[in-house]
Amino acid sequence: MTLRQKIKGVKKGDISVRKEVEKRLKTADETKSLNAFIEVFKEQALQKAEELDLRIQRGEETGALAGTVIAIKDNINIKGENSTCASNILQNFRSPFNATVIDKLQKADAVIIGKTNLDEFAMGSSTENSAFGPVKNPHDETRVPGGSSGGSAVAVASGSAETALGSDTGGSVRQPASFTGVVGLKPTYGRISRFGLIAYASSLDQIGLFSSSVEDTAVLLKELAGKDANDSTTADEPVPDYSAELDKDIKGMTIGVPEEYFSDGLDPLIKDTIFTKIDALEKAGAKIEKLNLPMTEYGIAAYYIVATAEASSNLARYDGVRYGLRKGGEEGLIDMYEKTRSSGFGAEVRRRIMLGTYVLSSGYYDAYYRRALKVRRLIKEDFDKAFAKADVVITPTTPTTAFKIGEKVDDPLTMYLNDIYTVTINLAGICGMSIPAGKDDAGLPFGMQLLGNFFEEGKIIRVGDFIEKNL
Ligand code: GLN
Repeated sequence: MTLRQKIKGVKKGDISVRKEVEKRLKTADETKSLNAFIEVFKEQALQKAEELDLRIQRGEETGALAGTVIAIKDNINIKGENSTCASNILQNFRSPFNATVIDKLQKADAVIIGKTNLDEFAMGSSTENSAFGPVKNPHDETRVPGGSSGGSAVAVASGSAETALGSDTGGSVRQPASFTGVVGLKPTYGRISRFGLIAYASSLDQIGLFSSSVEDTAVLLKELAGKDANDSTTADEPVPDYSAELDKDIKGMTIGVPEEYFSDGLDPLIKDTIFTKIDALEKAGAKIEKLNLPMTEYGIAAYYIVATAEASSNLARYDGVRYGLRKGGEEGLIDMYEKTRSSGFGAEVRRRIMLGTYVLSSGYYDAYYRRALKVRRLIKEDFDKAFAKADVVITPTTPTTAFKIGEKVDDPLTMYLNDIYTVTINLAGICGMSIPAGKDDAGLPFGMQLLGNFFEEGKIIRVGDFIEKNL
């Protein structure tokens, strides 16, 4: 059942929200071994479901997402609930306020089923860097689900939730969507409010959406997008009815295919599958345009400089005074800072704070940080040129299917290379969506990525929906 059918059924009183929520809770319980959730809100979800059923019985109005079940990455604040970011440093931290997206979901009468597991502070590509242990891929439990929003991806892939929210700083929604066989959208920077999303790298972070179809993504995006007085980086752009893009023809659209995204290191099966789809799009009336994005090879380097620099600043606030954990202090303030931060942060977060502090330090700032910013601008200009020719650009989402748990965790550089097709999109600020493209011989899913220019989510939804329904 699609989200639209479900909402219609709920509003008509044909579907009992309570029964639906019970079913999802049961699935979450049966798939506990996947470790997708940090917390399941059993009582709150059932209470909300009963309230909705009652309101519908009484003929009262309900919100646009009435009765749909959503999971929330545990770096998005919900008032009165813990926000852990999968880190020991936020031990027992309870959020005193709602993120804007949570306000919107509550107003729309969605049912929030729980907070999902992630790489600590959203730093990682496998959801292994979590104080709550790794998340497992439902298609093969010895493999990672991708990251950092692995818990949210798995909640949708395993059926514990219809949709989920994640955050995408360099691919954390699209890459796990690819590894688990669901749809993952990173909207344009500024499309959805970041107010209440715990910051990793503020100029790259966007809240992203998981669901099992492009159609459902369109429905959810409309409810979450828009200007927010609490986030000055949100854009004052009208929010179109994304569902109007569904079931449309793609005749006359130009699809860009960048050479650099289909070269060395890409699994041949992924490459061939995506090219088969591109051929089919051409047969369906799209124009295919070969493109070049020559700055692509500098994407990973620029990303891991900009992201760590911003992270080192954003994470300075966890000092043992304001939030969660406090250790030491017997020998003064510095002693407390050192002991709190050394024991509260995991290895990957510490590595990134050190790297970020280094690239920002005097003497290295010009060589690394300033240079990365210049490369970032050139990457954006690459995309400007691409979108002057193409409506939508198609690339792989990941170079391979899901890797084994433990395979890359001790080798950060290899882990970082997994983000090769996703980080440039955040550096440029444009939108991107991963949709399922196929499965390998072992039955592991992989995605393809559709890229759109600023605020052109509608176009990638249109092409994505066409591929999903026709190819
Ligand atoms: N894997 C990337 C990183 O570790 C992206 C993470 C993200 O998008 N939050 O930085």
